[in-house]
Amino acid sequence: MKKVSILIPFYNEQEVLPSLFERLQSLIDSNDNYQWEVMLINDGSTDNSLCLVKQMRLRDKRFRYIDLSRNFGKETAMLAGFDNVTGDCMVIMDADLQHPPEVIPQMLKLWEEGYDDIYGKRNNRGKEPWLRRKLSLLYYKLLQKTTNVSILQNVGDFRLLDRICIDALCSMRESQRYTKGMFQWIGFKKKEFTFDQDDRVAGNTKWSYIKLLNLAIEGITSYTTSPLKIATVMGLIVSLCAFIYMLFVLIKAMAVGDPVAGYPTIMVVMLFLGGVQLLSLGIIGEYVGRIFNETKNRPAYFIREIDGKKRQKVYKDEN
Ligand code: UDP
Ligand code: MG
Repeated sequence: MKKVSILIPFYNEQEVLPSLFERLQSLIDSNDNYQWEVMLINDGSTDNSLCLVKQMRLRDKRFRYIDLSRNFGKETAMLAGFDNVTGDCMVIMDADLQHPPEVIPQMLKLWEEGYDDIYGKRNNRGKEPWLRRKLSLLYYKLLQKTTNVSILQNVGDFRLLDRICIDALCSMRESQRYTKGMFQWIGFKKKEFTFDQDDRVAGNTKWSYIKLLNLAIEGITSYTTSPLKIATVMGLIVSLCAFIYMLFVLIKAMAVGDPVAGYPTIMVVMLFLGGVQLLSLGIIGEYVGRIFNETKNRPAYFIREIDGKKRQKVYKDEN
């Protein structure tokens, strides 16, 4: 019998976990032609979430959990899941029930047809603030223009991956992760399906604008070096302008003589160039920072506990 893993990273989700468990349980009970494993990754929750998960595990051994040593962020929590799920395929979903578990059988059907990566495309974005939706649209346009890898709009992390994709993702060990780009980058046979994204059942989104901005910078700097070219291009343009201006000043001085003036021009040019230099330095700094972090070569995360036992890794064929 084929084994299906469901991977759910969660962070302070005590309000939604009970209804999540209920819906998952009725799903896996009604699809007993597969063996199921629900892998819950506790990303350092500070509320009662882990307790609820442990109770669930006592009632139903198909529910497993990994307790990370602290909050590492969703991207890293997902990596911990990739490393430890044991299924022949894996469905990734959010804990907040924005991804309806009821469409999983539909995804499995496509998987049986031979697709490796079945990704969900939102028909709607649910109830989201207007500004956030607009910013997100703008960001994807920008990303699309600057990267070689096409990153799909309205496609989140809700997807089914074959074992071959899971192994590919596990082999990518960078610690500052932008998983959304990785899904595209690894390739394999992809298939889209659409679903209606529900609203968050309870609790609040864990993404503040600052966190989203960080993720956005992550996305750009991990998939393209074109911002570095901005500095080069700007340098060229500015030098060219400066050269033309120099000619103008020289000719003017020779033709009509030069009364002392020009303090405003000098100030403007100096400030402008200072700004351009700072910007370029900042861009370079982003990349140097990434190099710094990757060369430390640390493990991306630490596990405190797996299914009640203190240790670092899941071994195959155990439950
Ligand atoms: N999440 C996580 N670690 C974090 C932040 C979020 O594991 O540091 C989980 C969260 O519990 C949820 C999923 O990632 O299961 C998506 O988070 P959220 O619903 O807050 O994001 P949104 O749907 O608003 O993009
Ligand atoms: Mg959500």
